[in-house]
Amino acid sequence: MKCYKHNHLDAVGQCQDCGKAMCKECSDQYTLHLCDNCLIGNNEQVKNSFIKGLIFPGIIFVVCFLFFLSVPMDGENIFAKIFGALLISYYFASVPFGWRVLNKIKFNFILMMPIGGWFVYFVIKGGLSMLIGLFSTPFFIYKHIKEIKSINRLKQEILVEKAS
Ligand SMILES: [Zn+2]
Ligand SMILES: [Zn+2]
Repeated sequence: MKCYKHNHLDAVGQCQDCGKAMCKECSDQYTLHLCDNCLIGNNEQVKNSFIKGLIFPGIIFVVCFLFFLSVPMDGENIFAKIFGALLISYYFASVPFGWRVLNKIKFNFILMMPIGGWFVYFVIKGGLSMLIGLFSTPFFIYKHIKEIKSINRLKQEILVEKAS
């Protein structure tokens, strides 16, 4: 069996997704043992989930911002108002990021409590999310944008290599 890409090299492994035969170089090329096509497909899925993860907080941010901007205030300074609206909107939009950080910790013991376990669970988790979100949001956004960029770059490289 020869490599799907290098037909002079013997295959030592195969793509985890589609089973194409791959030489050593090809199967070690990426962290996941995938052929070029499957890697692109896999990365597109990762990218879409990152983009989806940014859409919800983005909507919260825009809605909050427009809402607070439309609230009339006495003796308002327009810059102070915009700044205030930005801060409050950031605060609300950061909650889903905090929630996601907390998803890594299991609070299941609270859910076992007989009365109002769910209620307590959501109140505690919601409160902590507000706190943690404030700090974790910039890291999340930075990391996601960086990943999306590197996925796009890799895809470009594969396509250029294929065309040549
Ligand atoms: Zn494959
Ligand atoms: Zn190869």
